[in-house]
Amino acid sequence: MNNKFLQERSLKAVWHPCTQMKHHEIQPLLPIVRGKEMWLYDSEGNGYLDAISSWWTNLFGHTNPYINAAIRDQLDKLEHVMLAGFTHESVVILSERLNKLVSGKLGHCFYASDGASAVEIALKMSYHYWYNNNQPEKNNFVCLQNDYHGETLGALSVTDVAIFKEIYAPLLRPGTCVPTPDWRYAELGESPKDYALRAAAALERHLEQHHTETAALIIEPLVQGAMGMGMYHPDYLKQARDICDKYQVHLIADEIAVGFGRTGTMFACEQANIAPDFLCLSKGLSGGYLPLSVVMTSDNIYQAFYHKKTSQAFLHSHTHTGNALACSAALATLDIFEQDHVIERNRIKAGYLNQIAHPLSTHAKVRNFRNCGMIWAFEVETNDPDFAGKFFQLGLNQKLLLRPLGNTVYFMPPYIISENEIDLLVNGTLRILNSL
Ligand SMILES: *Cc1c(COP(=O)(O)O)cnc(C)c1O
Repeated sequence: MNNKFLQERSLKAVWHPCTQMKHHEIQPLLPIVRGKEMWLYDSEGNGYLDAISSWWTNLFGHTNPYINAAIRDQLDKLEHVMLAGFTHESVVILSERLNKLVSGKLGHCFYASDGASAVEIALKMSYHYWYNNNQPEKNNFVCLQNDYHGETLGALSVTDVAIFKEIYAPLLRPGTCVPTPDWRYAELGESPKDYALRAAAALERHLEQHHTETAALIIEPLVQGAMGMGMYHPDYLKQARDICDKYQVHLIADEIAVGFGRTGTMFACEQANIAPDFLCLSKGLSGGYLPLSVVMTSDNIYQAFYHKKTSQAFLHSHTHTGNALACSAALATLDIFEQDHVIERNRIKAGYLNQIAHPLSTHAKVRNFRNCGMIWAFEVETNDPDFAGKFFQLGLNQKLLLRPLGNTVYFMPPYIISENEIDLLVNGTLRILNSL
């Protein structure tokens, strides 16, 4: 089927996510027929550099031969088995390897299929832990201003993104938002670290008053993704861990977007040398191939559910929990991290991008150019309410897949990006900025 044909049929039959479908009367859908490494191709053979890893998931390129082979191998052995009453090799090995990556501190892995479900699981488990410990009044949650944790009702309750949340307010039991540590909110002359400490003090004031009715604090460590790649100092995480310990409140680290090397370390929490009580992972977990998520937790939490009474157990389930194909993709992804020394190599790639990005970071229309690991972001000075849509179209003309969040442009490329492709990305972005 050619592009035009696919576009028309998709618009009739498919309701696309995060989209006002009527806008597609003007902005065409882009049918993709194949992917290879950094590139996505349409039916006319036009290639687009996937500079945002297809919504932050694809770590090692499209149709990666190593991951493909691992999935094929699994496919011929076992595609799926229910995980209640049954188990399989891939899910066992994956759980053990994930725990090793967090120094053995989170030895119990509970699986689901997507990020929002992982958040729901962490929230329910946290509350249920306190319930099992005779503190059922600890049933509220605290999140950060500008946090995003997904769009099912529980996850939306701890999300602070008005456009996704406002309409559904009557359906929610909202958590309390405390001030964000994002340094864009710092006063003139206040360092990112000082600002992070000021935000931590606000968290402490809240928990001092409300800890007896608070189950957990949920945060996006180091980078608040969906609300414009807000970045903050790792000392906030250290403080948050200490404050949660002091007031007996769980810390849920939502590393669904930032896990697996995005911030320059395998997990963002490493940069503050802390372990959360719950670690939520998804997106890059399967290399971006298949829907898979996991909530990792500690012995202490796990033990609170371990009892002869059925009702004391965590009776939550998703049909595809621990799917074998998805786990095999995740194992292959972890192999690549080890074999190719990805974290070290990414440092060199990030250094190269920062070096050639000088004309971008100093561009007259660019504000707050920032970088954390393999994430770059900046605001573009504009009054155009449709800036994001227009920039996306201009990006495609430059063979770049970029999808700004409001007036924030960001790069979140697969880790296989080459220096040539970094040149294409930076120079193409400059051409777009100059054409605005
Ligand atoms: C994407 C994301 C989620 C939700 O994951 P889905 O798979 O889209 O449900 C939750 N938290 C963070 C930080 C995310 O980036």
